[in-house]
Amino acid sequence: MKIALIAHDKKKNEIIELAKRYREVLALHELYATGTTGTLIMGETGLSIHRMKSGPLGGDQQIGAMLANGELDLIIFLRDPLTAQPHEPDVSALMRLSDVQKIPLATNGSSATIMLESLKNGIYFGA
Ligand code: PGA
Repeated sequence: MKIALIAHDKKKNEIIELAKRYREVLALHELYATGTTGTLIMGETGLSIHRMKSGPLGGDQQIGAMLANGELDLIIFLRDPLTAQPHEPDVSALMRLSDVQKIPLATNGSSATIMLESLKNGIYFGA
């Protein structure tokens, strides 16, 4: 399965902890991430990740393009709802495309945990 990992700056620690906790299951899949998120997760976990540009420089749009092409199966995007983002339109577009394509998108750690538990336990195999 192709999985995208993205986190806004104040959520970077949370996504790293999540990636560490679910490292074994994530290692079974093809991983993609926006630039900084990918670099941090790779450094902390040793997971292999295809990195896009940094989110504010177009990385969210690159992930969105993958979605539009039907090339992603699951997205974890830990958003910071309390900080204005310069690339908010890109974030909204990505979320809209996940609904267009009916691809699961977790926007906080609790929903991401449910997703990763489903993967780990073989409950979710993709749409
Ligand atoms: P980053 O981008 O991983 O390059 O920080 C994330 C984002 O803000 O969309």
